[in-house]
Amino acid sequence: MNTIATDIRNDFPILSREVNGKPLVYLDNAASTQKPSVVIAAIKNYYETINANVHRGNHLLSQLATDAVEQARDKTQAFINAAEREEIIFTKGTTDGINTIASSMTSMVKSGQNVVISALEHHSNIVPWQMLCERTGAKLRVIPINQKGEWILEEGLSLIDEHTAIVAVNHISNALGTINPVKSLIEHAHRFDVPVLIDGAQSAPHMAVDVQDLDADFYCFSAHKICGPTGIGVLFGKRERLEALPPYQGGGEMIKTVSFEKTTYAELPFKFEAGTPNMAGMVGMGAAIDYLTAHGMNKLKAIEDELLNYATKKMSAIEGMRFYGTAEKKASVISFLIDGVHPYDLGTLMDKFGVAVRTGHHCAQPLMDFYNIPGTVRASFAFYNNKNDVDVMVEAIEKSAMMLR
Ligand SMILES: *Cc1c(COP(=O)(O)O)cnc(C)c1O
Repeated sequence: MNTIATDIRNDFPILSREVNGKPLVYLDNAASTQKPSVVIAAIKNYYETINANVHRGNHLLSQLATDAVEQARDKTQAFINAAEREEIIFTKGTTDGINTIASSMTSMVKSGQNVVISALEHHSNIVPWQMLCERTGAKLRVIPINQKGEWILEEGLSLIDEHTAIVAVNHISNALGTINPVKSLIEHAHRFDVPVLIDGAQSAPHMAVDVQDLDADFYCFSAHKICGPTGIGVLFGKRERLEALPPYQGGGEMIKTVSFEKTTYAELPFKFEAGTPNMAGMVGMGAAIDYLTAHGMNKLKAIEDELLNYATKKMSAIEGMRFYGTAEKKASVISFLIDGVHPYDLGTLMDKFGVAVRTGHHCAQPLMDFYNIPGTVRASFAFYNNKNDVDVMVEAIEKSAMMLR
């Protein structure tokens, strides 16, 4: 494992820099991942050699740019195994994808209906649904969790009924790392013909995803969490679900014909892609997908699983350690507190040792309320981390805690 990991690390230029005079130990991957040279080069190459607006020009550069972004769509289709390329909508990111569906659904939701989410959601999979409920009079229902941070599935399933407009849940919790049984949930929702949106912001980076196997109706993720650039992401939707929805935004790209009397909309995917898209972003994301696919998601997951086990074991020995999120099935995220130490102080001191972790509520305040804590310290691992990173982190936690107690 170590030789593989060393090769991989050389692909990421930022990993060789120092912070605060110490080698960088980057453990904030659940917030955003670092970028390999091939992604940076693809973006540079796009601007240096083919940049032009897409889909509307008949000059060579416009065609080259169009080919490049449409290839990125094909790569994305293959990455999550969507049935058709037209089911891949480019967005700004996960948040944008969720808002697109929540906004587009407005005219189809009635008061008396309900929207089902879970207690593990990121704010970006809570607030858009609350806003939909406010617009329509629908009610929000929340799948409860146990102390380990797992859904209480039976109770969750019982919340779904013939009045449910949509179920929207994350595949993997960014705050705790819980891998949720979304397939069972989807199967149950489909008995009532209820569509299910999966917030895949944390599953796209950490496992092989197959939207057809899951039978997900919608699946969203962000490029910046899969080693791609910021400002670009994906909304997958089953063709029949997307065709049933009105467009979210109007403008160029998304129309077939426009007159002052009537506008007709473009076919999928363009119906949901108003305006000049983030072309360099799409190309960069395509390069990131190529990079991950070349290594193989299963191999990368195995590296992360090994790191998770190693880190969990080592951290368990730290005095006063309390883990939040101890689900049977977990991705490489460790949320914790040390007795008598404020998480913010701990994170700040760890940074002095070169260790980048996140402290706070992780955009999941209701979840922190469930545990009755203001927040946690979160170490989240990517496949380019190694055991040395874990060792440095553990030493940083111990030394920092000693200074703070
Ligand atoms: C990061 C994250 C989001 C939001 O993604 P953006 O890139 O900020 O739009 C939503 N859900 C989960 C689970 C996340 O980890």
